Amino acid sequence: MTARSLDGKACASSVEVALHNRIAALKEHGITPHLAVVIVGNDPASHVYVNSKIRTCERLGLTSTHIELPADALENDVRKHIENLNLRDDVHGILVQSPLPDHMDEEGLTELIHPTKDVDGFHPVNLGRLVQGRTDGLLPCTPHGVMNMLEWGGIELKGKRAIVLGRSRIVGMPAALLLAARGADATVTVAHSRTEDLAERCAEADVIVAAVGRPNMVKPDWVKPGAVVVDVGINRVDDPSRERGWRLVGDVDPAVREVAGWLSPVPGGVGPMTIAMLMSNTVRAAERTVDL
Ligand code: NDP
Repeated sequence: MTARSLDGKACASSVEVALHNRIAALKEHGITPHLAVVIVGNDPASHVYVNSKIRTCERLGLTSTHIELPADALENDVRKHIENLNLRDDVHGILVQSPLPDHMDEEGLTELIHPTKDVDGFHPVNLGRLVQGRTDGLLPCTPHGVMNMLEWGGIELKGKRAIVLGRSRIVGMPAALLLAARGADATVTVAHSRTEDLAERCAEADVIVAAVGRPNMVKPDWVKPGAVVVDVGINRVDDPSRERGWRLVGDVDPAVREVAGWLSPVPGGVGPMTIAMLMSNTVRAAERTVDL
């Protein structure tokens, strides 16, 4: 068997098509959705992500504001920017790019963003709603993107066994909540670094969502034939054959393709969907200001 591709680029394009109409409707009300991104420091990967978000805003006709601060900026500087953006009626979404320098309290700064502008979906109010089973709010972009890809593939989750590898606040845990939520209705196991017999637990699953940050960890013999495998991982590994000396790989060994029924590629899988869901959250946040 060769797995079908859960093609994140194609799925993201279909999300963008649907967003076009909503953005046009907002513009008729005199509103252009506006995303503000705060980035601190020089982490090259973060700058690549932020540039990609800004380019997507431009493509869709959204306004973006890019606030760049040096690595030695004070936490208070970031606070002031967030407080200012919270007060601006013309700004609908605020995102503070992770990771922040070690001297900053990332969770504290996330909590400072007004929940209605929290387009990353990490504010305790938005995560709390998700825990209550309310999936109509601003959802964390990566797990929401995973759910959209599964829907795009026409993959039935009801009653199926799903395992999420990873329990982080931004990916693993919200992905598990969304898979178990009413409407999706999967039966979910959350695995982490202390999980025993991980390969056996995976082999029982109909759906595997891998979000561990370990290159190629999920092996073909961990996967039930025909299972759906979503690879969230983005890991940089050395590759002297490339001019830049590295390449990106996921958390899933590419040989899983020979066993799985569906597999999301890296790159070109969950990554583009994360950005598409960020755009969707920004449009949603703008719609709420005019009751659309
Ligand atoms: P974190 O480091 O916050 O969490 C990793 C999770 O994996 C933890 O729960 C950890 O367990 C678990 N874990 C680590 N090693 C193992 C192991 N050997 N066996 C089982 N579980 C393990 O990472 P994130 O959740 O932020 O990100 C995960 C991956 O997803 C990364 O590769 C990241 O780059 C990628 N990512 C991709 C995005 C995209 O758009 N495609 C967006 C965000 C992230 P424990 O809790 O016990 O430590």
